[in-house]
Amino acid sequence: MKYPLIEIYLDRLKENAENIVALGQKFGVQIWGVTKVTCGHPEVAQTLLAAGVKALCDSRIENIQKMKEAGIDTYYTLVRIPMISEAESVVRYSDCSLNSDLEVLEALSRAASNLNRIHDVILMVDLGDLREGFWPSEILDVVGEVQKMKNLSIKGLGVNLTCWGGVLPTETNLGQLMDLVNSIEDTYQIKLDIISGGNSSSLALLREGKMPVGINQLRIGEVIMLGNDTVSHQPFPNTRSDTFVLKAEIIEQREKPSHPLGTIGLDAFGKVPVFEDKGQRIRAILGIGKQDVAADGLRPIDSGIEVVGGSSDHIIVDMTDAEKTYKVGDLVSFTVGYECLLKTMTSPYVAKKVCERAI
Ligand SMILES: *Cc1c(COP(=O)(O)O)cnc(C)c1O
Repeated sequence: MKYPLIEIYLDRLKENAENIVALGQKFGVQIWGVTKVTCGHPEVAQTLLAAGVKALCDSRIENIQKMKEAGIDTYYTLVRIPMISEAESVVRYSDCSLNSDLEVLEALSRAASNLNRIHDVILMVDLGDLREGFWPSEILDVVGEVQKMKNLSIKGLGVNLTCWGGVLPTETNLGQLMDLVNSIEDTYQIKLDIISGGNSSSLALLREGKMPVGINQLRIGEVIMLGNDTVSHQPFPNTRSDTFVLKAEIIEQREKPSHPLGTIGLDAFGKVPVFEDKGQRIRAILGIGKQDVAADGLRPIDSGIEVVGGSSDHIIVDMTDAEKTYKVGDLVSFTVGYECLLKTMTSPYVAKKVCERAI
């Protein structure tokens, strides 16, 4: 076996996805699965669909292309607002995209016309998080403009929260989304198919039964993938977080002081490191580094092990209080946080292994 290795537990992912789909069903909200943190891993995608997610979303057109080429047949939405330079592949590979710019929309319409297609768009509104979205005051005019673009079809309206500004979804800001939907539908005498109330951070509101009526879709990645409630940073009810398990090999283990010897300058990333002096400790080096993981997103399954830090190619762990005994060549296992999973799935140096097939 080649290490480092990330194990992907499809049965656990399926359980998470089924429970979130059921939660959505209870409140009339369809769940679209977001695969980007796995780089559009085809078997993960297949598992989500088998669990009942209605459609798939990804942030990169290459990932959507990969899933399609793997034969996964569903409705695909690109969730990162498109680049003009990729308009043609956006139309070619995705059925729908989230949008917040009229020039980009025009480029998509032109590309769709060249390919003789109609491309669906969800228009994004910025309700304060200050990442993507048209301003609420301009959205009515924008709808009028997009209606004139012959090869686009307005699929719905959406919002993204808790990504840049950390703004939480509430009855107030999502109520504002519904007000905009109502004024668009009244003004243009149209019916919007999808009202997209956000990402994983909207699930807490849904659970409490506080999602404004009319919001009928959520785009969900993290809660399905890692069982993490992105609002409370606690485990989300009825989900598990042992869906991905990372294994790295010990390449050195030795008793060393916990405080470096000599004058301390900058570390490998130009930062001044700070150390707590805990005396002599048993330290191990793992054959994995910051090129492959986010060190602060590594959660040792052996709870006596502590991650001390790392550099590009090494992660250093304190093994003194480990529950088991380890030696060079042994593996240390971790569950992972979102950013860590993103890096791990992206790194070509980490082998991916599908375990416990659910389907
Ligand atoms: C990543 C992303 C999502 C999914 O977010 P999670 O927090 O992982 O559920 C939804 N919408 C957009 C626009 C995204 O970029």
